[in-house]
Amino acid sequence: MEIMSNRLDRGFYKFQQEFEEKALKILRSGWYVLGKELSSFEEEFADYVGTKYCIGVASGLDALWIALKILGIGKGDEVIVQSNTYIASVMGITINGASPVFVEPDKYFNIDADQIEEKITDRTKAILVVHLYGQAANMEKIIKIATKYNLKVVEDCAQSHGACYMGKMTGAFGNVGCFSFYPSKNLGAFGDGGAITTNDSKLAEEIRVFRNYGSEKRYYNRVIGANSRLDELQAGLLRVRLSHLNEINKEREKICIRYLREIKNERICLPQICENATHVWHQFVIRVKKREEIITYLKKNKINTNVHYPIPSYLSEAYQCLNIKEGSFPLCEEYAKTVLSLPLYNGMTDEEQTYVIDKINQFE
Ligand SMILES: *Cc1c(COP(=O)(O)O)cnc(C)c1O
Repeated sequence: MEIMSNRLDRGFYKFQQEFEEKALKILRSGWYVLGKELSSFEEEFADYVGTKYCIGVASGLDALWIALKILGIGKGDEVIVQSNTYIASVMGITINGASPVFVEPDKYFNIDADQIEEKITDRTKAILVVHLYGQAANMEKIIKIATKYNLKVVEDCAQSHGACYMGKMTGAFGNVGCFSFYPSKNLGAFGDGGAITTNDSKLAEEIRVFRNYGSEKRYYNRVIGANSRLDELQAGLLRVRLSHLNEINKEREKICIRYLREIKNERICLPQICENATHVWHQFVIRVKKREEIITYLKKNKINTNVHYPIPSYLSEAYQCLNIKEGSFPLCEEYAKTVLSLPLYNGMTDEEQTYVIDKINQFE
């Protein structure tokens, strides 16, 4: 048996007929950009998240940079973000000319809310909260701090579609929620896609205009905008997937509950669930000191794994300009050296799960 780290084809075949019917309908309609599928998806997704508005954009990164830009964040401003996030969160900040100010993660891999306050300066404009691997961050503490210092809150929900904190969904806490629909995300498209959620009608309007060349009315351009639209085909297919999202997340949870109960190996540190938070299991991330050994061992047994992420963004070649030295965020760097994502995908069979569990338990 060979186990891939992900199997997007299984997620397609699960709802094959619905996807194919929807795709054909859109292809035959003759309308491909900014149409009824998009406006319906935006309405349905806002409803799902629990916000008044949702604006589709072309990717998760676009959602981040456009949201931060429309919030007025730019050169000279600082944005607080966790050090162990995917590099896209950081790029959303730096594309706008603003500076990331990093904070160590907590034991749940999310921003350590107790270390935020000491990082706030006169220039701090926002906190970018990433609900990493699918688990909601401690929004109660974060919103409290943001309110006290009058900071904007931007949520990076690229991995957390459907995850809640104290019963409220991620993407509904901040001034804006930024989503990615990259194919591997819990709510995945068949190409690139993203969205911004908000309760602020003025922000929603400005984002809507900005994503389409700054134009409300064709050929009348109010501001210098971007071309960042979620096309009809993606929006329509996302509507199909959204109608099954709770089921999709439940299936992932079921697999992860098995992992949590049945993986028993002293060398392995299992992920923890934070009180008041729900986890939609975008990734099942364990920690192993002997990571290279377990990767090789699993590979020998035809089990493929991934590392999210091996290099903290500030140590990447791209961000040498930040001039942040190795050792600056010890816990983040420890995670980078020890985290390992186990195979996890919708449509993973019981036999496949059992095989992974058995092999991991046999690792010495
Ligand atoms: C995937 C991801 C993004 C970027 O999304 P794209 O659609 O690939 O641009 C941003 N932040 C996080 C945490 C992600 O996982």
